[in-house]
Amino acid sequence: MLVELEGVEKAYGEGAERQPVLRGISLTLDRGESLAITGESGSGKSTLLHLIGLLDAPDVGQIVLNGEIVSAMNDKERAVRRRTHIGLVFQQFNLIPSLTVARNIALQARLARRLDHDWIETLVNRLGLSQFQSRYPEQLSGGQQQRVAIARALAARPELILADEPTGNLDEETSADVLALLLELCQNTSIALIMATHSMQAADRLSRRVHLSHGRLS
Ligand code: ADP
Ligand code: MG
Repeated sequence: MLVELEGVEKAYGEGAERQPVLRGISLTLDRGESLAITGESGSGKSTLLHLIGLLDAPDVGQIVLNGEIVSAMNDKERAVRRRTHIGLVFQQFNLIPSLTVARNIALQARLARRLDHDWIETLVNRLGLSQFQSRYPEQLSGGQQQRVAIARALAARPELILADEPTGNLDEETSADVLALLLELCQNTSIALIMATHSMQAADRLSRRVHLSHGRLS
């Protein structure tokens, strides 16, 4: 098992303002598996991905990644696991504006000490980015930026990709292309994928689907 969540709860705010978002989430994901998380806007999809992605810690419950209990770790310990095990893809692309495409792609792999030039070349070619390597993010279309973000997420060969509405800022045709590339690359490399989306059409392309509503999964 790659990911295991047991009784995970998360709330935001203090006192009377306290708002529970996740109320008892249990979930498992095998190596290489793909899982879609659907749910309306505000249902807690991003909150759940932030917990699995070790960007935040649950209030209650346990998260196990690769056999390690990560939910009890401090920020620094979590950051080390995140760097080596997880690749993140966001709706807003989140590329570093001052770095070229090539440097954006390589940065995290370098930090994780997993830089593999042959693998990056394979990714760049498959994602159709070879002619853009010396450009800056603002010189690219949305679809191109998201392909750079996918290359970056896969560059360190993580076990898990977390994609939060990865096609939410793209037009329909570009969305289909980007999603197909993401799924193909994950499948061919046996990298597990968890994708939050409100598109049922996108969710249907993944091997499993769960729905988040009122803080619970069904
Ligand atoms: P989704 O990704 O499904 O749209 P989110 O996880 O972003 O949902 O948000 C779930 C709920 O938690 C929303 O009501 C949102 O306003 C609230 N929320 C999310 N992040 C924060 C935060 N950092 N501080 C306070 N409330 C938050
Ligand atoms: Mg969200």
